[in-house]
Amino acid sequence: MQDIIHLLPDAIANQIAAGEVVQRPASVVKELLENSIDAESSKIQLIVSDAGKNLIQVVDDGKGMSETDARMSFERHATSKIRTSQDLFNIRTMGFRGEALASIAAVARVELKTKTESKELGTSILIEASEVKHQSPDTMNKGTSIAVKNLFFNVPARRNFLKSNPVEMRHIIDEFQRVALANPQVSMHLTQNDKEIYNAPGGKLSQRIVHLFGKNYQSQMIACHEETEWLKITGYIGKPEHAKKTRGEQFFFVNNRFIKSGYLNHAVQGAFEGLIKDDQHPFYALYLEMDPARIDINVHPTKTEIKFEDERSVYGIIKSAVKQALGTHNVTPSLDFHT
Ligand code: ADP
Ligand code: MG
Repeated sequence: MQDIIHLLPDAIANQIAAGEVVQRPASVVKELLENSIDAESSKIQLIVSDAGKNLIQVVDDGKGMSETDARMSFERHATSKIRTSQDLFNIRTMGFRGEALASIAAVARVELKTKTESKELGTSILIEASEVKHQSPDTMNKGTSIAVKNLFFNVPARRNFLKSNPVEMRHIIDEFQRVALANPQVSMHLTQNDKEIYNAPGGKLSQRIVHLFGKNYQSQMIACHEETEWLKITGYIGKPEHAKKTRGEQFFFVNNRFIKSGYLNHAVQGAFEGLIKDDQHPFYALYLEMDPARIDINVHPTKTEIKFEDERSVYGIIKSAVKQALGTHNVTPSLDFHT
């Protein structure tokens, strides 16, 4: 029998990988914003039109890329963030898998403009379905702008599967808020269809929360702080009387990365026991810092699920930290379950 196995061309391999990384417009937003953070930007602008179905653009003032790097950034497994397998145990950047730009460019039309501090001219690249259509030197400011157009134009099933604009926009805002909360020192701006949604200058975390969620949060937050030998927790919890019926405003960050964890959420919910009803959910933005070797963030391409070396201890420390914050604030139970 003849041999029948062959390597797939890059464009197809990228398109397959894109299925995991790029689920919807919000996935693109997440990847681009995180790249801008990794590039040490102090100002990031997100521009979307039609909930990202027509345009998702991120403009930053970060360190930019050289001409060669600009082209390389679209290759699969191409990254400036890790080199050795050892580096996987000490990740301090948002990215490291080197597959976001390759994946996005496989299922959209991408216009990249980027310039480093030291160069007079920057680089413009137009790439569509993994194919470079145009590349030239160009005048621009230091930093990077990436515009993603016609998302999923070559994956009709994905394009048709997209939800209504309000639903897709909600996902985009969720991603924006997560990055904005993780990086309060960075000035962050969001416009949709030329309308300004957020304009948050860089500053303190408490100010960022107020910018994102409203002025009344000022008086509704309690600071939370706990430090053990290997785990540091900071951030804010909402006062029990302001708990809501929806879960939207609950955020965990581990080494500045937003993560989803039903288990750790349960720890916070448990600390509020007796102070809120079972169907109410308190606001929280809690920041955990620990040695990166104690966690594995490489569980899923989107990196929002992570594995802790000792999840039960983390649970216990969070619960006691939140309890203590609630206690020091002297809250009296606002609900009486016995009457
Ligand atoms: P990763 O972030 O995992 O390294 P990406 O595909 O997201 O992979 O990006 C590839 C590379 O392109 C990055 O490692 C980085 O060097 C470069 N890059 C991407 N976006 C930016 C940006 N906004 N500013 C500077 N460099 C960037
Ligand atoms: Mg990245």
